[in-house]
Amino acid sequence: MRIAIAKATTVSERRVAMTPDVVARLVKQGMEVWVETGAGDGAFYPDDAYVKAGAEIITEGDRLWRDGQVILKLDPPNDQEIHRLSAGSVFIGFLNPLAEPLRVKQLADRGVTAFAMELIPRSSRAQSADALSSQASIAGYKAVLLAAATLPKYFPMLTTAAGTIAPAKVLVLGAGVAGLQAIATARRLGAIVEAFDIRPETKEQVQSLGAKFVDVNLEEETRAEGGYAKEVSDAAKRKTQEVLTQHVAASDVVITTAQVPGKRAPILVTRPMVEAMKPGSVIVDLAAGQGGNCECSEAGKDVQHQGITILGPVDLPASVPVHASQLFGKNLATLLGYLRSKDGELDLNFEDDIIDAACLTHGGTIRNDRVQAALAQETAGVS
Ligand code: NAD
Repeated sequence: MRIAIAKATTVSERRVAMTPDVVARLVKQGMEVWVETGAGDGAFYPDDAYVKAGAEIITEGDRLWRDGQVILKLDPPNDQEIHRLSAGSVFIGFLNPLAEPLRVKQLADRGVTAFAMELIPRSSRAQSADALSSQASIAGYKAVLLAAATLPKYFPMLTTAAGTIAPAKVLVLGAGVAGLQAIATARRLGAIVEAFDIRPETKEQVQSLGAKFVDVNLEEETRAEGGYAKEVSDAAKRKTQEVLTQHVAASDVVITTAQVPGKRAPILVTRPMVEAMKPGSVIVDLAAGQGGNCECSEAGKDVQHQGITILGPVDLPASVPVHASQLFGKNLATLLGYLRSKDGELDLNFEDDIIDAACLTHGGTIRNDRVQAALAQETAGVS
C-alpha cells in the first residue's frame, strides 16, 4: 500500500495528518510512505524527521495526488487537489460532509473512495480511530486556558499574607468530550466548576470530575442515535435558559460546547444573560463555528459586550499542533489497520461497521443517506 501525506491547505491550519513516529511504524509494517514537502512544518515535524522515519519527500504536489494510492490530509481537499486525484484512489481526512456536500459529490464524481473522519462510529471498537474525540478534547483543554488567560482574576483559591482570594467559578455547558476535558482542566486550575448537558447520563461523568451538575428537568427525549443529543423543543430551550440564567450570572467563566450533529448549535446563553454577568467575566463559545451557543459570539472573533469578553475560537486543536497531529496520526493508523489485508494490500470490507460507516464515497456514489439529503437540499437551494 502506498500512503501519501498531503500538506493541510486551510489558512491557520498547523496540524499534519501523520507524525514521523506513526510513519515509522507504517514503514516497518511494509508500507511505502510519501510526504509532501513541508507538510509537518506547522507542527514542528520537519521533512528530515519523516526521511529518518523511512518516508520519501515529494516536492511535486501533482505526483503525490495523482500517484499516491491512499492520500491522507487533515483538512478537506480543495478543487485543484480533487482534480488531481485518480479514479480508484482513496482519500482520508476531515471532510465536513453535512455542511459541504458539494465537495463530497465532486469526490464521488471523480471515482474516489473517500473516508470522512467525522463519520467514524462512536463505538468502543472504533475509539482509537475517533478523531472527533481526540481533537475535541484538545479544544476543551485550550478553551479553559484561553479563559484563564483572559479573566482578570485568579482561577485557584489562594491564601496569602495579603488576604484570601476566592476561587473562580466556571460553568461548562455541554458535557461531551470537549466539555468533560474543559471541566477537568478548570478543576486542575483550582476553579469551582458546574456543568449542564441535556443528556441525563452525563450527570455521573460530570460529578466524577468533581463538578456540580445543574439539573434541568426537560421531560422529553434528548438522545438521538449513536448517543448524540437531539435538537430539543422550543419549550425545552426556554426552560433551559430560565434555569441557566442564575448560574450564568454567578459565573466568572462560561465555556460552551453544546452541539447537535448536522444542526445549528443551540442558543444557551442569550444576550440578556450575558448582560447580567459581572464585568470582566469571560465566555468561550466552542460552538461558534456552528452558529454559536451564545447570542453574542462571532466565529473566529473576540467580542466585547458591556464589559464581558466573548471568545469564538474555531481552530483550537490547530493551536496545539504537536499533540493534535500526534493523536490524529494514531487515529488514522488505526483506521488504516482496518483497511489493510493480511498481506498489506488495500482491502475494503464493507461488512466491517467502521468501514461501512466512515466510507462516504465509493464507485461513483455517495454512501451516506444524511449527506445525500444535505446535497439534495443544497442543490435545490442553488437551482
Ligand atoms: P458533541 O460534540 O456532538 O456535543 C457536545 C455536547 O453537547 C454533547 O454532550 C451534547 O449532549 C450536548 N448538547 C447538545 N445540545 C445541548 C443543549 N441544548 N444543551 C446542553 N447540552 C447540549 O458531543 P461529543 O462529545 O461528540 O459526544 C457525542 C456522543 O458520542 C456522546 O454520547 C458521547 O458519549 C459519545 N462518544 C462515544 C465515544 C466512544 O464510545 N468511542 C467517543 C466519544 C463520544
